[in-house]
Amino acid sequence: MNTHVQTLDTPLFPPTPGIGQPTWRLCIFTALVYVVSARVGQVFSIEPGNVTPVWLPSGLMVAAVLCWGRRIWPGIFLGAFLGNAWAYWSWESLELVSRGFGSAFMNGTGDALGIVLLAWWMLRHVETRRCLRSRRGLLLLAIPVAWGSSVISAFFGAGGLWLFGYIGSDQTLQVFFTWMVGDAVGVLVMAPLALSWMLPHQRENTPGALLMLAVAAYSVLLALLLFEMIRLSGYWAYLVTLMVPPLFYVLFNQGERLVFTVLFLVSVVAVWATSVGQGPFAGSQPESALLELQLFIGIFSLSLFAMALLGFEQQDARALLQQRQVELERLYRQDALTGVWNRYRIKEFLELELARFRRGGSAFGVILIDIDNFKHINDEMGHLVGDEVLKSLSLLLSEHIREHDLLGRWGGEEFIVIVTDTDQASVMVLAEKLRALIEGADLSLRKVPVSRISISLGVTLAEPGDSEMRLLDRADSALYCAKQAGKNQVTSRWAE
Ligand code: GH3
Ligand code: MG
Ligand code: MG
Repeated sequence: MNTHVQTLDTPLFPPTPGIGQPTWRLCIFTALVYVVSARVGQVFSIEPGNVTPVWLPSGLMVAAVLCWGRRIWPGIFLGAFLGNAWAYWSWESLELVSRGFGSAFMNGTGDALGIVLLAWWMLRHVETRRCLRSRRGLLLLAIPVAWGSSVISAFFGAGGLWLFGYIGSDQTLQVFFTWMVGDAVGVLVMAPLALSWMLPHQRENTPGALLMLAVAAYSVLLALLLFEMIRLSGYWAYLVTLMVPPLFYVLFNQGERLVFTVLFLVSVVAVWATSVGQGPFAGSQPESALLELQLFIGIFSLSLFAMALLGFEQQDARALLQQRQVELERLYRQDALTGVWNRYRIKEFLELELARFRRGGSAFGVILIDIDNFKHINDEMGHLVGDEVLKSLSLLLSEHIREHDLLGRWGGEEFIVIVTDTDQASVMVLAEKLRALIEGADLSLRKVPVSRISISLGVTLAEPGDSEMRLLDRADSALYCAKQAGKNQVTSRWAE
């Protein structure tokens, strides 16, 4: 029986570990991620205009700021600079080099400024750990962060292209618009995905690898079917579609990793299909395919956010309730001053032990303990010192009894030890050990020296036919004898 005092206020959502100031290596890594993800995104660009529908780096960079803080900005700047230089730079003439440099610089500035400003602002309102699991976190991410950072980035990006003569004034608004939407959709899809994999996972909601794989595979299959990348014959198509409700059920009972991985995979299929001219958006006007695809991904991600939130909130509420319940259960069985079990718990335990004994279980012992001359301590040093002595003594006693035994505060300066599975000799040995322990212990408080204290102990053993009262009466009268005989000693009383 663990009688040790424990702190009850362990937070349900402890601060996110492993998040610190970014180093220059992390900045280089971030820049690399930017460039690579930009190139990957460009593979799936869509006609006309060869536009990347989901700008992957924007979301990844938002996640980087949310995890590593605003000092990651040089990495974002460098990534956006190089990503843009790659597309436009030409070494043919000094003029082309300087134009390329100018536009790349504008792009770096826009991305670093927009993303860092907005994500950093978000961090001031939400703890990183809660970015994905709270209403506030997902709302901030989906609206001000996704759109605010994209507007700034598109303003500088499209502005730079126009300023350095890559596009004409008539195209600038159009480029600004597609740039902005691509960036925003990138944040919606990629930021949750990256964050969910970068942050430590919420305890209970860790899906098994097999379940994750199955759900991911099914989502991809469904998306391939919807975007006409594969065709299934009648019954199979029905079967796959019928699995949608279970998919949603599993999704929202799992943690954020699965939800946002599915969002990513479905988006990948949608973009891929549209870029190769398949699926519902490819058939429409080429000019509107891009926008329709982006609209679909945007709405799909927002719907997933909304539904995931319900699931997350329910999971968190359940976890909080469970934690509070455990705390409450312990609190109403615990003595407020010393943290050992209180009278309610002692009686509960005694009843259980008696019932077990009556069913033929092994004998158990009771040791009643009373501090000798405790009034003197109170009188000489004050009540508060007396309280501290009670606490230290409880802690000391609790460290010297077995795990299956129980230490409780019977009242005032009286304690009780219920010793399970024992006999007369053993319970006497334990009582004597505790007496010697306290006699030899130095219970001095930090500044106040407390004169050595001693305890008197009354010992008895459960006998057939015992009631709770008879048992306690015997222990009490043994304790009385110990006091009468001069205190600081162990006296026993066994049934006749
Ligand atoms: P003895 O048991 O050796 O006969 O002497 P005693 O001085 O311990 O006698 P008694 O049992 O009559 O007094 C117990 C004292 O314990 C009285 C009360 O002021 C004190 N006490 C009881 N509960 C607390 C408590 O929670 N805090 C403090 N500081 N004192 C307490
Ligand atoms: Mg007493
Ligand atoms: Mg006493």
